[in-house]
Amino acid sequence: MVKNGSQNGASWKRSLADIQDDLAGLGDDWKRHDGISHMTKLLFHEDAYLKRCSGTVAGHTHQGGIILDRTVFYPHGGGQPGDSGLLRWSEGEIEVSTTVKTEEGQIAAVSPESSPLPPIGAVVEQEVDWDRRYGHMRVHTALHLLSVLIPLPVTGGSISEGKGRLDFDMPEAPADKAKLEEKLNALIAEDHEVSEQWITDEELAGKPELVKTMKVSPPMGTGMVRLIRIGRGASQIDIQPCGGTHVAQIGEIGKCRIGKMEKKGRQNRRVYIHIDCDV
Ligand SMILES: [Zn+2]
Repeated sequence: MVKNGSQNGASWKRSLADIQDDLAGLGDDWKRHDGISHMTKLLFHEDAYLKRCSGTVAGHTHQGGIILDRTVFYPHGGGQPGDSGLLRWSEGEIEVSTTVKTEEGQIAAVSPESSPLPPIGAVVEQEVDWDRRYGHMRVHTALHLLSVLIPLPVTGGSISEGKGRLDFDMPEAPADKAKLEEKLNALIAEDHEVSEQWITDEELAGKPELVKTMKVSPPMGTGMVRLIRIGRGASQIDIQPCGGTHVAQIGEIGKCRIGKMEKKGRQNRRVYIHIDCDV
């Protein structure tokens, strides 16, 4: 069953606005000499269900990326692919094939076409390829659940529309694949809420048990880290740092299947999950 995340959206907006106020006071790293913040506003964090928005072209990258002042497009990172979609402006439109984060922390929409880019200062309508992104959200959230059921350090991961995988520091494969799949679907059926909480880098450093990933460092460096919580209170089942996009209720993931479990070196096992993205 598909629900929309607007109920969560309101509280997310409030917390992010507070954090952005804090970041604005952090100093020169967040501003250039003209005193204007050039960080792209991450609307997909405020509301992962936002499908389109307007924005202004803040610059172009040397690779032909279009830097936006605010965006619905999630940039490639944390194992989750960059969003695709469309940009429209008064003079034309251009396809977005993926989205990346620049070294300066801005978000750049990348087009596969050689057609002219919207000029700096142009107001653009951004529309995300929602079916693809929603598929990523469902798989991504399912991987959080997999890390609950296999409580071992995560050494890698990847997400695509209908499947995803996590690599675990796990010398022996789980003995019973059918049982693992049954537990995963039972958790999904509990339909827990997914929510976020922001803490400081220092607070996270004091709680190393929250970090499950060994090689992928949590999204630190801005002073604040975003935690993703599944369930609440006594029924909380997971909390871990993550900058990706997630469904609002885990019931939206739908039925999952455990796929291949591959041996990757002496210490690592790669576990695949598949979901039917047509649900
Ligand atoms: Zn996540």
